[in-house]
Amino acid sequence: MATGSLLSHEPGASDVSSQPTTPDRTPERTDFIREIVASDLREGRVDSVVTRFPPEPNGYLHIGHAKSICLNFGIAAEFGGHCNLRFDDTNPTKEEQEYIDSIQQDVRWLGFDWGDNCFYASDYFHQLYDWAVYLIKTGKAYVDELSADEIHDYRGTITEPGRNSPWRDRPIEESLDLFARMKAGEFADGARTLRAKIDMAAPNIFFRDPVLYRILHASHPRTGDEWCIYPMYDFAHGQSDAIEGVTHSICTLEFDVHRPLYDWLIGNLPVPHVPHQYEFARLSVTYMVLSKRVLLRLVNEGHVRGWDDPRMPTISGLRRRGFPAEGIRDFAGQIGVAKADNTVEYGQLEHAVRDVLNRKAQRRFAVLQPLKVVVENYPDGRVEEMEVANNPEDPEAGTRRVSFGRELWIERDDFMEEPPAKFFRLAPGREVRLRGAYFITCREVVKDAGGEIVELRCVYDPATRGGDSPDGRRPKATLHWVSAAHAVPAEVRLYDHLFTRPDPGADGDLFADLNPNSETVLTGCMLEPALAGLAAGETVQFERLGYFTPDLDSSPDGLVFNRTLTLKDTWAKLQAQGKQG
Ligand code: ATP
Ligand code: MG
Repeated sequence: MATGSLLSHEPGASDVSSQPTTPDRTPERTDFIREIVASDLREGRVDSVVTRFPPEPNGYLHIGHAKSICLNFGIAAEFGGHCNLRFDDTNPTKEEQEYIDSIQQDVRWLGFDWGDNCFYASDYFHQLYDWAVYLIKTGKAYVDELSADEIHDYRGTITEPGRNSPWRDRPIEESLDLFARMKAGEFADGARTLRAKIDMAAPNIFFRDPVLYRILHASHPRTGDEWCIYPMYDFAHGQSDAIEGVTHSICTLEFDVHRPLYDWLIGNLPVPHVPHQYEFARLSVTYMVLSKRVLLRLVNEGHVRGWDDPRMPTISGLRRRGFPAEGIRDFAGQIGVAKADNTVEYGQLEHAVRDVLNRKAQRRFAVLQPLKVVVENYPDGRVEEMEVANNPEDPEAGTRRVSFGRELWIERDDFMEEPPAKFFRLAPGREVRLRGAYFITCREVVKDAGGEIVELRCVYDPATRGGDSPDGRRPKATLHWVSAAHAVPAEVRLYDHLFTRPDPGADGDLFADLNPNSETVLTGCMLEPALAGLAAGETVQFERLGYFTPDLDSSPDGLVFNRTLTLKDTWAKLQAQGKQG
């Protein structure tokens, strides 16, 4: 898309801002996980529900994480339990404080509260170490000296069993000594590992003596240089769940193959609680890529303005784009929780957000591509305050006053010198309504030397103040406008999908599918002055144009707005057609 037509549809005299509201905002919903939780409570298998959201602080959270957050915090709240925020900080080479801070900000912004229950896997490093020693002592773990490549070679394949490491049957005392020396820093990265001793011929590859600890001489954001051995995900995760008394450890489908190991470790350690893992399908959305690794590349290679770029699928990006938290929560509820992978239409996310904004966003006037109108019969210097509704969907939102004067800005798209049959807006000799103000008729078109239209000379009908004519005349179009003497200029950034295809990367190079027109910057836009005072995060409707919010780059010296969404809801339309057909 480009700067072409900014108006998403032909506006008539009717209210163009009303959208269909969805009937699917039911508060009580259930799914297979909620059913498991309910039956565990009913049958007394658990007394009180404890869930957790376990991000690795190696990037910013994205909309997929939002689904997990809504599920974990949502279940805890619905069943009277609590949800822990747990940082899975076991890989210090990739994790940073910036990510920890952003994750906390995003969870809070989404509307969830972990209370006193913010934990870190690194809080448990001593306990985890003791449990590793316990496994060695009970003959269920050993220190291995194979390199990473050798471990891989020895592991076998899906069809072939693996081979035992030559170090597998070394004496317990020797493993204990070596593990202590690993901890003391005697060995280089990769020189030794601690492995569980399970079964190198097991059909489940995760049972083939999985690595539990590795050597990493790296400073940790929280434990500094205290440790140079770090637990692997599989050893840290379930045991952290057990320490925290988590009852339902809910994660995405790719972890189902880890579950036997999860249960094996819990079963072979003297843990204080027995948690259970349940898996649900991860969220995929068309036109979006939900992988922190890819998002990090987009940031590092400068394809976007940062993690919080309004085109990013990150929670911080969606926030900067102007998406309300409520819309994201509604979306998470509407897509549900299932056991089978599927991809959700981007339009469904927009639909949920649009539904909230339609109800809550205040309406304002803004002209993105201004064309000057001079109302010739309006007295020079005179200013009238016109009263207009803040939100026709919500009478309680009240009204505001907008200044009207002799010189106005209207949208360039709203005028055509030689209008085709279906163009009902302004044209030479034609009358239109200015929303909340007067009817005007175009008398003359002024052009510059290059033939470009620079001004329209119009006349107004004083009897139509407020937008109605006593003789019942009804113009076919109602336009938005801004008084030239009062308007404030702004930059407006229009956004489109970051990728050109619904399945980015399906044909190979993901980065070749980046949309070169994902951002269009308009300058010299003219806004009603009230918009200068809007705070970042407040999203309003620019009448007839869409929803917009001040960008984080906006300042009193240079206003910058982002387009959150257009008004048109193609997803709802397609749904309705599908239901009828
Ligand atoms: P990514 O694949 O984007 O790098 P991740 O799974 O490595 O994400 P974590 O920080 O480990 O990121 O994720 C924290 C939690 O969020 C996990 O429980 C994970 O299952 C869940 N999660 C991650 N991505 C999604 C998704 N697309 N849909 C639903 N839940 C997700
Ligand atoms: Mg992960």
